[in-house]
Amino acid sequence: MSLTVTGSINVDHVIRLPQFPRPGETLTGSDYRIVPGGKGANQAVAAVRAGAKTRMVACVGDDAMAGALLDGFAKDGINISAIDTINDVNTGVALIQVNESGENTIALAPGANAALTPEQLQRHISALHCEQLLLQLEIPLPTNLAAARQAKEQGARIILNPAPAQSLPDELLALVDMITPNETEAERLTGIAVADNAGADAAANALHARGIATVIITLGARGVWLSEHGHGRLIPGFTVQAIDTTAAGDTFNGALVAALQQQQALVPAIRFAQAAAAISVTRIGAQTSIPYKADIEAMLE
Ligand code: ATP
Repeated sequence: MSLTVTGSINVDHVIRLPQFPRPGETLTGSDYRIVPGGKGANQAVAAVRAGAKTRMVACVGDDAMAGALLDGFAKDGINISAIDTINDVNTGVALIQVNESGENTIALAPGANAALTPEQLQRHISALHCEQLLLQLEIPLPTNLAAARQAKEQGARIILNPAPAQSLPDELLALVDMITPNETEAERLTGIAVADNAGADAAANALHARGIATVIITLGARGVWLSEHGHGRLIPGFTVQAIDTTAAGDTFNGALVAALQQQQALVPAIRFAQAAAAISVTRIGAQTSIPYKADIEAMLE
């Protein structure tokens, strides 16, 4: 039985420039890179590297980029049999400009990610034995809802990483067993600022009131606020020298669910995920920074 991750697959085209070009202007940049991204893909990579048998349900376009991405997933050991190729649509693309101050602008063409339909999800999930389903918010909401409903019918645990930040219908939240917002996402969902432990506790209780048993609010370098059925506490993170926090959240989510899939109890699973995310912030990039199980276990020793 494997863990199922549903979500986005993107190719990030990153170019560094002295400053952002103005409308009509052409500027020469440096250091152009094509890197795999998308929250769904990042989280699936984090899960499989953390030792979980992982399957991804997603869509790519019928372009050259898709082949390279799928090869990369297969090399990592992700089961790609439920990744569909859609004709005449682009694979999800983000065009990212980074200026000298490290600020970025991002132009996103979701392409195949936006074409992932509820019917597709229902078809794939009903054909699988889904024990745990990990979702984020970079595919259409009705598709996430259909996936959660279908998986719930099979008795699966539904874990939602509600990123990027947006408000969500009760209908979806009622199906969720575990939610993992960061501070901004928790505030967007509840209207409660998560500036300190009291704020995290209040936001967690608001999410419990909407039917979610386990709330894990990630607090960056501070760690996480874990609240189960109204009992909350801080679980501090690891102290490391962070150089690039890209995909810290994705690494945390993939590793958390992987640890749960491998029968770890919740608190050790959170420690495992914190160790994975702490390693990822000491490395540059998104999927390139995601550690393997042996590195994570070494961090925990
Ligand atoms: P991002 O958007 O950067 O991917 P996020 O906002 O979704 O991340 P965070 O709360 O910043 O999520 O980080 C997720 C987890 O990663 C934290 O709970 C923590 O365990 C770990 N983490 C993040 N930043 C650091 C850091 N500077 N040092 C150690 N651990 C970190």
